[in-house]
Amino acid sequence: MKKVFISALIRSNLIVLLFLCGVTAFAKPRITIIATGGTIAGAAGSSVNDSYKPAQLSVEQIVASVPGIDVIAEINTIQLANIASQNITEDVWLTLRKTIDYLFSNNLADGVVVTHGTDTMEETAYFLYLTLSHSCPVVITGSMRPSTSLSADGPMNLYNAVATAASSESKGKGVMVEMNATIFSAADVYKGNTVAVDAFESVYGPIGYVRNGEPKYVRNISSVFAAEKYNYRPPFDIKELKTLPKVEIVASYAFASAEPIRAVIASKAAGIVIAGVGHGNYDRAISAEIDNAVSKGISVVRSSRIPKGGVDKNAEEYSEKVPVCYNHSPQTARILLMLALTQTSKPKDIQNLFEQ
Ligand code: ASP
Repeated sequence: MKKVFISALIRSNLIVLLFLCGVTAFAKPRITIIATGGTIAGAAGSSVNDSYKPAQLSVEQIVASVPGIDVIAEINTIQLANIASQNITEDVWLTLRKTIDYLFSNNLADGVVVTHGTDTMEETAYFLYLTLSHSCPVVITGSMRPSTSLSADGPMNLYNAVATAASSESKGKGVMVEMNATIFSAADVYKGNTVAVDAFESVYGPIGYVRNGEPKYVRNISSVFAAEKYNYRPPFDIKELKTLPKVEIVASYAFASAEPIRAVIASKAAGIVIAGVGHGNYDRAISAEIDNAVSKGISVVRSSRIPKGGVDKNAEEYSEKVPVCYNHSPQTARILLMLALTQTSKPKDIQNLFEQ
């Protein structure tokens, strides 16, 4: 009797176990879509008119416009903000980072997709890339055309972003940008076209493409997440931070005046990124003010407005007090300097961080 009972128990437990295995094997990846606004949530009065308003649709409305999205993943949504990305704030960045960290740390999601305006998408992506330390994928997407457009690109972009975030192939690749069925690393992506649907580029090329609902990776990337394994810079730990150090960008150009840099110095910024010409060169008027800024304890980094070729440390300008950003745009160099300043203000240490 006891035996019969035990074997029945074992059998029923086995059935439960097999059922659970089946559920696990067929369970869809849990993807949380965090919406922040942008053109993907934009709407216009006409399907062929260029003028539209960004950030009009809710995340539920955006998701509802993507047929089949719930077939590839179990979708959860969060409306974090609904703004055009030219108005993104430090607060949105910090809350976004915290939300993603919470979801992954508590095993509430297998991947995250962020919908975002394209204007500052590369900046948010790079900020998250430098500050998150999870192997689960984060994919940022948006659209170049509003939802009401005759051939809106948002639904396909969102479908492909979810497919990318849901794939086990995407683990450990850090933060990525997916637009127009093309996947870029947040490490080097930038917006290179103001209107085309293939607006995003990288000097080093994409890391993959999305085909038939699956990411196909074509090159390896130096994910910050993989820092320990590959000896790259570890993510910046900013869990406790409520604000980021204030860093501004000052551009150089033909006969640039010193007015903008003087205003930045007076604003008590913690750092200045020079968007220099050529190898990060700048007008003599700016040069004098850089010395002034450094003497006041403001950290200055030299970068270039030119996307390709890199910046040589001593091609023309050289100062040990002004670290050089070799291969980032001024806007991503600014993010790295902001985060560097949470650890150090020594030019040598900042230079090291820019070299890693
Ligand atoms: N200005 C819009 C934004 O960045 C452009 C876009 O989303 O494509 O929010």
